[in-house]
Parts: sequence; structure tokens; C-alpha cells
Amino acid sequence: MTSGPLFDLVIRNVRIEENGLLVDIAVRDGRIADIGFGMRCEAIESVDGEGAFAFCGFVDTHIHLDKTCILDRCTICEGTLAEAVRETAKAKASFEEDDVYARAARVVEKAISHGTTRMRAFVEIDPRAGFRSFEAIKRIREDYAFAVDIEICAFAQEGLTNEPETLDMLDAALSNGADLVGGCPYTDPDPIRHIEMIFALALKHDMPVDFHLDFSLDPDRTDLPAVIDATLRHRWRGRVAIGHVTNLSAMSQAEIVSIADRLAEADIALSVLPSTDLFLNGRSHDRLVPRGVAPAHLLAGRGVVTSIATNNVLNPFTPYGDASLIRMANLYANVAQLSRDEDMALVFSMVTDAAARQLGSVRRLEIGAEATIVLLDSPGPRVAVREIARVVTGWKNGHRSFDNGEPRIHRPK
Ligand SMILES: [Zn+2]
Repeated sequence: MTSGPLFDLVIRNVRIEENGLLVDIAVRDGRIADIGFGMRCEAIESVDGEGAFAFCGFVDTHIHLDKTCILDRCTICEGTLAEAVRETAKAKASFEEDDVYARAARVVEKAISHGTTRMRAFVEIDPRAGFRSFEAIKRIREDYAFAVDIEICAFAQEGLTNEPETLDMLDAALSNGADLVGGCPYTDPDPIRHIEMIFALALKHDMPVDFHLDFSLDPDRTDLPAVIDATLRHRWRGRVAIGHVTNLSAMSQAEIVSIADRLAEADIALSVLPSTDLFLNGRSHDRLVPRGVAPAHLLAGRGVVTSIATNNVLNPFTPYGDASLIRMANLYANVAQLSRDEDMALVFSMVTDAAARQLGSVRRLEIGAEATIVLLDSPGPRVAVREIARVVTGWKNGHRSFDNGEPRIHRPK
């Protein structure tokens, strides 16, 4: 090889655009040092990407690591939201720090191997959970920083006005390592006051807010206007996200457009959680069961920042899951009956760039950027969503963080 600049790593023959030309990515000191065609250079390590699609990794905007993998401690009879909250609250009272850590680690390791490099983890802090889950997830954040950036949302799952001590506990968590605050107005006897209490904490600590919102199929039962109003009144545009809002799936296109325009104006981002929303909604129907998944693509078309996320894994809210975002993107596309190439690209953005925007900053594969790179066995995002592309390998800040090995077919001899 002709001698040239010395890099730590060169990833050769990858695409950074759908069906684009093959390029090489050179890495030095944890950052992307060069991107070019047929790069002539020396590197300590050279990897052949064999035509894979390279990107910055998936971004999970909404995951509950603290209450994952607890199916063996819960009973699911109804499959409703109320039952899920009730059963999980019961299990939560006996969570220990090491137990939370072990269950969360199992899911984080799955997420890493599925190419996730960033996530927002909701952690319940209240008289039942104490700070045990919070302490465990803080350790997870530190121990897995080599592969994934985790931000922690101190979250009130079971109300505030009915349990005022939770407010002080959230306040303490926000002073002690949490990155943002989360509320759940629909489990509070006074949803409007709940929203104001969460905003007061966000203002005090100068942090973003994320609400679980409007988890029903009733368009008339909504706390969304209160969240939009508070966002504008407190000038918190771009720092507010909402999750679920499943009653959007019960509205006409005209109503959705009107709400989308108000969300876009307030710069409120929306996370759709298809696996949970499909599992818990429509339980009173014995046929033609409604899907209950908010039409994120319609909102995105009106300028709303939207993402598709995991939410729960193996608990009464979602008794399945593997923390794979390419699988979740495919599930959403399927449920939303999307087919066009541009729709697939949009759905891919909802687990990558748009999701990153929701978390406050978008990363790109460009010279000078951090060398966090994931390879998909696919020519690009559109095909990746259609086929649930295999995640091959990945690096975080230039260090290899996972490798899924090479699949092989063994033909008979
Ligand atoms: Zn959630």
C-alpha cells in the first residue's frame, strides 16, 4: 500500500447514501478524519464494509429500562393499561438496585447489538421505587457509555397530586444526575395540575420535559391542549416531547392536521410506541380491533418532529421485545400501511435523525464528527426498513462496541 496519513481505523467500501457510491471512512482519535473514494492511507485497523450502509446508529427516544424483564413477577389477565400500571406498581415495590441493574443491562446489551447508540431512559422515582431504580440506571449509563449515550428522565408514572412526596423525590433526582423530567397526566386525578407541577420542575432545573399523554382511543379525553399551552406560556419550545397520544388514531385527517400544526408551532416532538400501543389498546373490541397507533407519518408531513421507539420490553405493558429499532420501524410501516420508498425513508428517519432531533442534536457522518458508526447489511434506509436489515457491527467514538459476526449457510457436501 502506498504510504499516506496514518489513521486508527479505516472502514472501507460502505455507502452513506441510499445506493450511493462506495466510500471509505477514516478515523483518528475517536473522530471521523476523512471520507473519500478508494482512500490511499495506512491504518492500524482496516475493516471491509462490503457495501454495507453506514450511519450514526439508532436513537431510542423512549425506553423503560427499570421495569424491563419482569413478566415472571406479574400476571396479565386483561391486557389493559390500568392492569399494566397496577401490576408493575406491585412488582416495583420489591425492586432492588442490583436486580434493576441486571435486567436493564440485559436490554441495553440487546439494544447495543441492534445498533442503538443513543437512548432516553425513563426511570420511575416515587415512594415505591425509592431511588433504587435511579441509582441502578445511573450505573448503567456510566458502565455502557462505551457503546451508547443514555439520558435519564426522572419519571412520575403514578401521579403527583395524589402522592406529593414524589415531587420532592423528582426534584432531588434532577439535582443528582437526571437529565430531564417526565410526567404522566392520565394517571393523576388532576392532570392539568400535574402538567404544571412537571413544568415547574423543568423550569427550576432548566431541563426538557417528556410526557406520557392521552393513552386512550377517545379523542375528547385529552390533556394535549394543556401541554401545548404550557409549552408556549413557559417558552419551552423545542424542549417538550410527548409519547403515545394514541387517541390521534381515532381522529379524522382534518383533526390530525389541525393538531399537527399546533404541535409544529409549539415545536413539541412526538414518540410513537407501536408495540405497546398495539398490545394495550382496543381491549373492549372482540373483532376489528383498532390499532391505536398515532399516525406519526401524517404529523411528520406537517413538520412535527416524530420518532418511533421501544417503550417497554417483557413486562405487562409489552410482553415482547428485543430493543431492536429497525424491527420497530418495520412494525410501524406495516401497521400504518406504508409502501412508497419515500415513506420508508421517513420511517427510517424516525429511528435515526428525527429521533436525534427530539433528543436535542443530530449527528452526521462527516469529517470532524465523532466516529460513532453502525453498519447495516443493506444498500440503504429504505430497503433496511422493508427487510428489517441485519445490523452488522458498530463503533462508538472510534472503538468497536459490538460485532454480530457473519451469518453463514451450511450447504450439504
Ligand atoms: Zn413509556
